[in-house]
Amino acid sequence: MRISKVGVIGAGQMGNGIAHVCALAGYDVALNDVSAERIEAGLATINGNLARRVKSGKLSEAERDAALARIRTALSYEDLSDCDLVIESAVEDESVKRKIYAAVCPHLAEHAILGTNTSSISITRLAASTDRPEKFMGIHFMNPVPVMELVELIRGIATDDKTFSTVKEFTTHLGKTMAVSEDFPAFIVNRILLPMINEAVYTLYEGVGTVEAIDTAMKLGARHPMGPLELADFIGLDTCLSIMQVLYEGLADSKYRPCPLLVKYVEAGWLGRKTNRGFYDYRGEKPVPTR
Ligand code: NAD
Repeated sequence: MRISKVGVIGAGQMGNGIAHVCALAGYDVALNDVSAERIEAGLATINGNLARRVKSGKLSEAERDAALARIRTALSYEDLSDCDLVIESAVEDESVKRKIYAAVCPHLAEHAILGTNTSSISITRLAASTDRPEKFMGIHFMNPVPVMELVELIRGIATDDKTFSTVKEFTTHLGKTMAVSEDFPAFIVNRILLPMINEAVYTLYEGVGTVEAIDTAMKLGARHPMGPLELADFIGLDTCLSIMQVLYEGLADSKYRPCPLLVKYVEAGWLGRKTNRGFYDYRGEKPVPTR
């Protein structure tokens, strides 16, 4: 099966990135979110990101215009009925994802594949809540999508070979490299990355170092391009907390206990860059540590 039309549910930081790379690779894209404003905000981000690529000479104006022309807004799930592949990239909350699948599945073409960009939730469990577990799988992009080369592919227990090979071909066509992960909590990248971020928050919580000291230590001492707290703000502290909860509950091991300080930041609504405040305050000209 060949994919030509791709639907993306969720126009947030990941969803608009997925729409961006699909449109550049020549796919027709339908972008959905809960409101026209959210879709417009996603399109504005895509516009800005493509404009930067034109400015730096990586893309011609004609290529940019053609990519933008391939993206249409999909205000209702009915607008996704002609898609061959729909990628759900809404918030990392299992009950929200289940509600979306229940509402969207009746509108999908019979042959359509449904993928999820979940960072951590069981693909098998999500698949079981759809009408097409054999045509459902994890297609996990990295942030920022236009820049990061990796896509993790995760099969649920029922995913059939045709679905897997179609998605594999699609991923290659996007110019991405894949890593196949078994369906266990948080897959490969986040199983390793998030406990490190959570440990950095514990290091702050226990007063071992300040925000600045922790990030400087890991940047200069371990050659990480971003410090772990800066990275947590970039990912979104709500997403980080959800992933730790999935690891903690899914593997029933206390070593994955989310740090209470991470919980506090999320409860305060300080979710990182997307709300302008997290371990750093982004409201001024330069990010300022909040502890
Ligand atoms: P985000 O908060 O930036 O965007 C989520 C979007 O989903 C919002 O625009 C919201 O309006 C929309 N949404 C909520 N309910 C919806 C519904 N019922 N229908 C349609 N849209 C709905 O979050 P994000 O960082 O883009 O994360 C999205 C998904 O991608 C999550 O599953 C997350 O775990 C995963 N992910 C995130 C990262 C990361 O670094 N942030 C990396 C890889 C994967």
